[in-house]
Amino acid sequence: MLRFILHYGIHILVPIGIALVFYPDKRIKASLILLAGFLLDVDHLWAEPIFDPNRCSIGYHLLHSYLAIALYTGLLIWKPLRIVGIAFLIHMVADAVDCLFILD
Ligand SMILES: [Zn+2]
Repeated sequence: MLRFILHYGIHILVPIGIALVFYPDKRIKASLILLAGFLLDVDHLWAEPIFDPNRCSIGYHLLHSYLAIALYTGLLIWKPLRIVGIAFLIHMVADAVDCLFILD
């Protein structure tokens, strides 16, 4: 239950919180872009099974690979794409927290 709350809390509340704090005049648009970080989970469609609660996504799926995470970090440098990088990195943090529960 804690795992579920943390995972979806980071996926949903952190993007909205960042939008409100850092993009106050564009909070709706910023929230939507940040929430769209969820879309990275399309790479699960190539995995078998598509969803496995005991599998750590980080380093397993293509869009959750360490190379992909390095690219998302690189997006932070260029201002127009910074918010997309933030969206993707929030997703990685949410999934990484989830992995901590698997290692237990
Ligand atoms: Zn994911």
